[in-house]
Amino acid sequence: MTDCIFCKIAAGELPSKKVFENDELLVFHDIYPAAPVHLLIIPKLHIASLVECEAQHEGLLGRMLLLAPELARKHGLNDGFRTTINTGRGGGQEVFHLHVHVFGGGKMPHLS
Ligand code: 5GP
Ligand code: ZN
Repeated sequence: MTDCIFCKIAAGELPSKKVFENDELLVFHDIYPAAPVHLLIIPKLHIASLVECEAQHEGLLGRMLLLAPELARKHGLNDGFRTTINTGRGGGQEVFHLHVHVFGGGKMPHLS
């Protein structure tokens, strides 16, 4: 996807504060953190949202979620954390490249 911010971050064409990377996934700090720790887990593959996911993405989705507790532990979120996937405009999604938010470390965004 040529016009996608997160594809550009995944390709290294835009800078980000990376905290984890493998062949399939990338994790970086949100540019406007809504909590003391606010990470974004993305697949390197462009998938616009959870609505576009299919059975073939089952493993990928599982690995994205399983990364959250590992990241939380590494960032000292021993008390717990919040994961959010905003889907579609009605779900508050602003960047149309699938991502899991990981929030923790204090005040967190309201669920409204
Ligand atoms: P959404 O509302 O789509 O679930 O969340 C998109 C998130 O991406 C927002 O929390 C926003 O702050 C973050 N974001 C948008 N553009 C950039 C960027 O260029 N770099 C980083 N690191 N985060 C971004
Ligand atoms: Zn993309």
